[in-house]
Order: sequence, then C-alpha cells, then structure tokens
Amino acid sequence: MDLHFDREHIWHPYSSMSNPTPIFGVTRAEGVRLYLDDGRELIDGMSSWWSALHGYNHPVLNQAIIDQTNTMAHVMFGGLTHEPAIELCKKLVTLTPKPLQKVFLTDSGSIAVEVAMKMALQYWHSQGMPQKQQLLSLRKGYHGDTFAAMSVCDPVTGMHHLFNNVLMQQRFSESPRCGYDTPWEDHYIEDFEKQITTHHQQLAAVILEPIVQGTGGMHFYSPVFLQQVRALCDQYNVLLIADEIATGFGRTGTLFGCNHSDISPDIMCLGKSITGGYMTLAATLCTDHIAQTISEGEAGVFMHGPTFMANPLACAVANANIELLLKSPWQQRVAQISEQLSRTLAPCQQLEAVNDVRVLGAIGVVELHNPVDMHTLQPRLVDLGVWIRPFGTLIYTMPPFIIAPEELQQLTDAMYQAISEL
Ligand SMILES: *Cc1c(COP(=O)(O)O)cnc(C)c1O
Repeated sequence: MDLHFDREHIWHPYSSMSNPTPIFGVTRAEGVRLYLDDGRELIDGMSSWWSALHGYNHPVLNQAIIDQTNTMAHVMFGGLTHEPAIELCKKLVTLTPKPLQKVFLTDSGSIAVEVAMKMALQYWHSQGMPQKQQLLSLRKGYHGDTFAAMSVCDPVTGMHHLFNNVLMQQRFSESPRCGYDTPWEDHYIEDFEKQITTHHQQLAAVILEPIVQGTGGMHFYSPVFLQQVRALCDQYNVLLIADEIATGFGRTGTLFGCNHSDISPDIMCLGKSITGGYMTLAATLCTDHIAQTISEGEAGVFMHGPTFMANPLACAVANANIELLLKSPWQQRVAQISEQLSRTLAPCQQLEAVNDVRVLGAIGVVELHNPVDMHTLQPRLVDLGVWIRPFGTLIYTMPPFIIAPEELQQLTDAMYQAISEL
C-alpha cells in the first residue's frame, strides 16, 4: 500500500499535513477484526465511530447492497420515490417516540443537524417570529463539522475563535455536572434554566445529545436533566432537538438516548449506526405540527433537497441493519458488554494517569489527567493488537455488539496496559 503517497497527499480527519500522526493501511475487515497490510490483525474497539454494530463484512448486509445494486443503485428523490426509502421511513417512524412522524433523509450526520436547525428556524419564521433564530446548546457538545453544526459544538474544543466572524452566535449552558447515576439535585439544571429564562424570546431550539455527550467529552448525564430540559422547553416555547447520531440504535442500552428519560424531542437526528457502518446516511425526524407549520409558511416548502437524498443502496442496507438489530438479543448483548467493561476497566482507576473511569451501555471511557500523545500511543495500541482511537484526555471504546467476551477482554487488557505505561 502506498502509505507514502497517503502521507504526502491525503487529508485524514482532523489531521496535520506537516506533522501527521501514524496511519495504518487496512486491507480487509471481518467480524470485529481489521486486517492490516503489514500482516497484523486488530480487534476493533471503535465500530468505525459508533457505526458498525454487527461488525464488518456481514453476509446479510453485503447481500442487501448487492441486491439493491442489481435493481437500482440510485435515482433522484425529487418527484420520485422507491421501496427502500418507504420501508426505512416506516421503520424510523415506528421505532422513534410517537410524536415524530415526518422524516427527512440526508447523507451525513452534520447535514442532519443542519436540516434540524433549518427546520426550527423555518418553523418560527412561518409563525411570524423570525427573531427566534438562536440555538441553546450544552458545553462539551458535539454536533458535526459543517458551519451551522459547528456553531453549536463546544466553543473551546470547536475552536470557535478561529471562525468568529462567520459562525452563527449561539447560546451555551454548562455541561451537566451530574453523572448518569448521580442522585438528582435541582442546582444541576440551574444554569440551563437561567439561559432559557433569559433568552427564550430569541431561542428557536435547544440542541443536545441525550444522556451521552460523545465526541465533545464522552460525558454521561442524568435522565432527570433531560426530563427537566424537556419541561423547560415546553414552558418557554422553545423546540427541543435531540441529536441521537451517536446514541441511536441501542448503544446506550436503550434504543434511543431519549428512552432513558421517556421523553420525545420535537426534532430528532439519526446517523452513524443507521446503516450498520456500510454507507453514509442520516435522517431528521420531526412532529406533524412542525411539518405542518413549515409547509404553511412563506416558502410553502421545506427549503432543503440534497442530490443524493434517500440513496437506495444506503436505504436498503439501513433496512437490513435495523432488521438484524431488532432480531438480535441486542439489549442482552449491550448489558453483557456493559457489565464486562465496568469490571475490566475498573482497575484503570488505580493508575496514576487516570482521572475517571465510566461505563454506560456499550461505551467504556477512561479519562486521563493529561492529553495523550497520539504519535506514540496509537502505534502502541496497534502493537497490542487493538484498534482504539483516543482523543485529548480520553481513551474509550464502543465495540461492535457482536464482540465475544474474550475479544472484549483483549481490548480492555490492551487499554489497561497502554495506560499503565504512560
Ligand atoms: C458524528 C456526529 C455528528 C456528525 O456526523 P457526521 O456523519 O460525521 O457528519 C453529529 N452529531 C453527533 C452527536 C455525532 O456523534
């Protein structure tokens, strides 16, 4: 594999062209294993960023794409529709909380967030309240890399100062100070309440990742916090957007993060694991009321329509992925992974470099005191036979649901070993 060309010419996510961190060539992937071109094999602890729920090279998912390719790889969605899209949207409407009835399909998570924000703005504009156009987000949040999505990401880790003059100015309240299990105390919601009370006349929507703040800090928070946010949004007439792009489809132990709190958002974003890691696809769902209001507004339509909207290959594999998930004992698997992660990561707590260890659903996080050096840590983890991609102070895993106990043991052993050497 021409890794030299790669290093010289190809950007990778959040990469430097002058001081790149090591890149490994993958030639094949199967089950929970990635095969490198130097002959090594790795146990995958990342599910390719939350998405490969059933592992790689799955015969059922492969077949879904092959069959759809032989029927129709793509057709425009303007004025036309097709079975894979209809079937997928039926599933999404059925599985998500009941008030969510309308589906807008897009190509990636960031775009699903853009669409959600645009829906919120158009909703208020249609009611003669165009001044309601700001969003209230949580610190440590992550919602994607496009400009509107970036404007609601954590201002510090999102480096908002670099884009000061072009970025929409949004409101932020502090990241919930409670953990998932922390007994509830009312002061946890104080800062959020202050923000929404003060600014609700300008606020179109609140946007947050329910229960698990992912890429912005791997922070888990109390379901009561989310319930209180829902109540305050209702009280102050502000929409609630739940970004379930990372939490959706079982990862946290419930099908969606919102299920922990038994609430429904007004708008929900889905992505990442929706196709089981096979293709890029995302969806934004909203209520009948929002769709109705937008459609009766000045534009008369929702102002969005990507070229590859509802790509049939992506919809077909999403359908196969969701069926596979629902047919599997996923709750049991996630609970087993959760129990094992809690047990095997607990010893990390004793290590000097470690600040905190936490587990929720099939997500295990070791937070260090200091940021890691990826130039040395990444190759070390590969030497230990695992694919774990730390960032900042966080070394974490969210393995495919199909991982076997021995494979998970190898993953957590490697995490412990690498951290103990820091
Ligand atoms: C990954 C992620 C996004 C962005 O999705 P992309 O497909 O990378 O554009 C948005 N929100 C959350 C919560 C995510 O985890």
